[in-house]
Amino acid sequence: MKTIHEPHLMQREADDLRVAGKRIVLVPTMGALHGGHTALIREARTLGDVVVVTLFVNPAQFGEGEDYGRYPRDIERDALLASGAGGDLLFAPETTAMYPPGYQTFVNVERLSLRLEGAARPGHFRGVATVVAKLFNIARPHSAVFGQKDAQQVIVLRRMVRDLDLGVEIVVVPTLREQDGLAMSSRNVYLTPAQRVEAPVLYRSLRKAEDLIRSGERSAGAVVAAMTLEITGGSSAAIDYVSVADADTLDPLVTLSPGAPVLVSLAARFGTTRLIDNIHIRL
Ligand code: AMP
Repeated sequence: MKTIHEPHLMQREADDLRVAGKRIVLVPTMGALHGGHTALIREARTLGDVVVVTLFVNPAQFGEGEDYGRYPRDIERDALLASGAGGDLLFAPETTAMYPPGYQTFVNVERLSLRLEGAARPGHFRGVATVVAKLFNIARPHSAVFGQKDAQQVIVLRRMVRDLDLGVEIVVVPTLREQDGLAMSSRNVYLTPAQRVEAPVLYRSLRKAEDLIRSGERSAGAVVAAMTLEITGGSSAAIDYVSVADADTLDPLVTLSPGAPVLVSLAARFGTTRLIDNIHIRL
């Protein structure tokens, strides 16, 4: 698989592909690829002619004391997995190539970035929006594929694409899960064996929320309370947040109403490992 490290070389390659009439599909990742990422790459394969997979652990989206330094990195393994899933080109820039000395331009999707993950991780979506805008300018994709696993990321990026007229189609792939329901994540490798046994409680709490809502519960508070009980009763996890929100605006809901798309989401810590998960429900 051809690997490109320099942004200007990737840009030149993308320009040549566009001149040749090729449809470019981008799959941005931070590497440490797993089944969720390969599902994105397989979906990308169906959407265009050239699938560009990016590997970049973006320092701008990590906060103080987060896992930037210890985030798993293995470019050889990632290249094999990416090409096996149908990737054509790997773009793996150095940090200094993306953020050279003097760098000072950031993209901020103002209100949506303050909710949920943004409230728990100040500056996170400023980092995400900035790097994705840069990747769009570097790889010039027609479409870009993201996972429902990071539901708020998709909502923020769709807003950015509309607001800045970026003209990139955003495609979303459902969350890939382990057999016991745990959402696949590069961070699952941090879990101790005991935490790994407990972690599926997060998905069970989401399923519980869905069952309650489908059987007529309309109080968001009651749903949050039931999920909280499920998680704290069944594990040692510390909850960061459990949220029932409008899936378009991310405004917290008090009462669920028919027709409104609902995002039920959560973040919880098993020791120092922070996991997120969500489900999308339309009443
Ligand atoms: P990351 O490498 O964690 O930044 O993720 C790169 C892309 O893969 C993002 O669009 C994620 O939403 C997506 N992704 C991560 N985990 C999963 C999963 N379990 N299922 C589907 N997509 C995922």
